[in-house]
Amino acid sequence: MTGRTLVIAIDGPAASGKSSTAQWVAGQLGIHHVDSGALYRALTAVALEQQPDMTQWNAADVLAGGARITLVPGDRTFIPLIDGARDDERLRGSGVTAGVSAIARMQQAREWVNAQVRVAAREHAVVVDGRDIGTVVFPDATLKVFLVADPWERARRRLQQRLARSPADDEIAEETELLVRRDAADQTQTVQARDAILLDTTYITQADQVARIVALTRAALERTAEPLEH
Ligand code: C5P
Repeated sequence: MTGRTLVIAIDGPAASGKSSTAQWVAGQLGIHHVDSGALYRALTAVALEQQPDMTQWNAADVLAGGARITLVPGDRTFIPLIDGARDDERLRGSGVTAGVSAIARMQQAREWVNAQVRVAAREHAVVVDGRDIGTVVFPDATLKVFLVADPWERARRRLQQRLARSPADDEIAEETELLVRRDAADQTQTVQARDAILLDTTYITQADQVARIVALTRAALERTAEPLEH
C-alpha cells in the first residue's frame, strides 16, 4: 500500500452499535479493530482506583495513570490491559461509564488515546470506532462512517444485550435518559466528518450495517487502487 495501512473510521454517539459493528467489519475484512472508547474507559478505571472522588481528578494524574495501560493486539480486536491484565467488566461498569466523559474532555487524555490508536494503526489495517476518529485522529481515513440511531432504539439494544432478554418500556425509558445525558456530555467531541457517510441504523439489522460498510470499504479501496493489506 502507498505509505499507510487501511483505516476505516466509525464514529457516532453512545450505544449506536459502533464497537460491535466495527468488530464484525474487521472480522469480515480480516483486519483489526480498535475501540478508542475502551482506552478512555481504561484511563477512567485507573483514575477511579487512584482517586474515587471524581471532583478531585486532574489531567496530570490521569495521564500518569496511562503508564499502567497497554494496548495489545488480540485475535481481531486490540485489548487495553491495566497492569498487564484484561478486565472488560470493569471497563463497562457503571462507575467508569459515569466518569468517562469527564476524562474524555481533558485534552491531554485525548492526545494520549490518539497516540495509542495511531501506533496500533501504523502496523495493522484497522477499523477504529469512537467519536472523533474521522475528524481528529485519522482525517485521511480510507472510509469514514457516522452511525446514528434513535435514542430509544439504542437504549433498547443496549439493554437487550446486557440483560439477554427483551427489556420493559420503563427500563428502556430509564436507559434512554442516561444515554441522552451522556450524548450531551460528549457533544463537543462527537463530530461527524464532512466526508463521512451517515448511516441511520434505527431500522436496519446489524448484519445489514456490516454488509454496507464492507461494501463501502471495497468501493473505497477500488477508487484508491489500494490492496487490502493486513
Ligand atoms: O464508545 P464508548 O461509549 O465506550 O466510549 C466511552 C466514552 O469515551 C464516551 O462516552 C466518550 O466520553 C469517550 N470517547 C471520546 N472519544 C472517542 C471515543 C470515546 O470522547 N473517540
